[in-house]
Amino acid sequence: MTKRDYYEVLGVRRDATEQEIKRAYRRLAKKYHPDVNKAPDAEEKFREISEAYEVLIDPEKRANYDRFGHAGTESIFGKGGFTWSDFTHFSDIEDLFDRDFFGRDIFDVFFRGFRGEPRRGPVKGNDLRYDLEISLEDAAFGLNTELRIPRTEKCPTCNGTGARSPADIKTCPRCNGTGQEKRERRTPFGQFVSITTCSRCHGEGKIIERPCPECNGTGRIRRMRKISVKIPPGVDTGSRLRIANEGDAGVGGGPPGDLYVIIHVLPHEFFRREGDDLYCEIPITFSQAALGAEIEVPTLRSKAKIKIPPGTQTGTIFRLKGEGIPRLRGGGRGDQNVKVRVVTPKKLNKRQRELFEELSKIEKMKEGEDFIGRFKNSVGSMFR
Ligand SMILES: [Zn+2]
Ligand SMILES: [Zn+2]
Repeated sequence: MTKRDYYEVLGVRRDATEQEIKRAYRRLAKKYHPDVNKAPDAEEKFREISEAYEVLIDPEKRANYDRFGHAGTESIFGKGGFTWSDFTHFSDIEDLFDRDFFGRDIFDVFFRGFRGEPRRGPVKGNDLRYDLEISLEDAAFGLNTELRIPRTEKCPTCNGTGARSPADIKTCPRCNGTGQEKRERRTPFGQFVSITTCSRCHGEGKIIERPCPECNGTGRIRRMRKISVKIPPGVDTGSRLRIANEGDAGVGGGPPGDLYVIIHVLPHEFFRREGDDLYCEIPITFSQAALGAEIEVPTLRSKAKIKIPPGTQTGTIFRLKGEGIPRLRGGGRGDQNVKVRVVTPKKLNKRQRELFEELSKIEKMKEGEDFIGRFKNSVGSMFR
């Protein structure tokens, strides 16, 4: 099957703003959500819309798609293509599916639905996302830090059962704990039996007589939780760290979700980063450039010395091997590239002025001879 263009899927122009993309997604997602739209292809449509949104709302992924088209999505989603675990915009969905529109439990149902899990029984908790800003130094050397994450946890008062006491959990009297209801109908053609999910316990087989006052019977509570994370050396903006089991608590005995920490490296006042290499610029004087010098430059770790050879031109780049960022995979470090910039003095004292004037006289004579000589030669060759 050929894939449709993402812009076409969302019905937006190629230069659409973030707001326009959000609006288009909101409109289409509401229309095609499988809980609202019962058409057989609604689920596939919904998936297609979410995939397009995942790419177009992210400037980096969008640029990649603009450049390479669907061929570029392998680098975004890997060989298997888009799956729901690639979908990082959970908070966008949360504000998109307002509870009034879909009814109370829609958000849970939505997540169960799109992970392909049954609506009954244990359900894995939601994955969470945390955007962490760090300095270039921390990106280079790694960092141990504590994050404050608002998340859903198993209620400690009732241990997740939702009941005030274990005695308050009773077998459902309507279905006798089977979770199913049998309905019999007599008709002239015979007796019909239909089996449906129990309307009293919703298939759980158990009911709670008095709910836990702490969690109102949901078995889960919201908590601000401190979580220690170790950021490895070498991360860059867009790096995604998965911290297993630190997401929201599961439902019905399901495992917790995972926490994803998305790294954003702040700009540095002196260094610019490209991959694992660093770039910086150092000013040098006329005389240093002409005569050569040894200069000291800052590195991320401390400082280093560079030998400037006599006759160095402005813009020359010197490489400090291994003074860049450690490689996240494979070991070793990038390099630091130092570009020298010859600075013209803005103010001269009397002595400097004399020296420059003297220099100027010598240069005039020498350059004049050279230039006239070259000019004569080229004119000569033109008329030969
Ligand atoms: Zn509770
Ligand atoms: Zn029941």
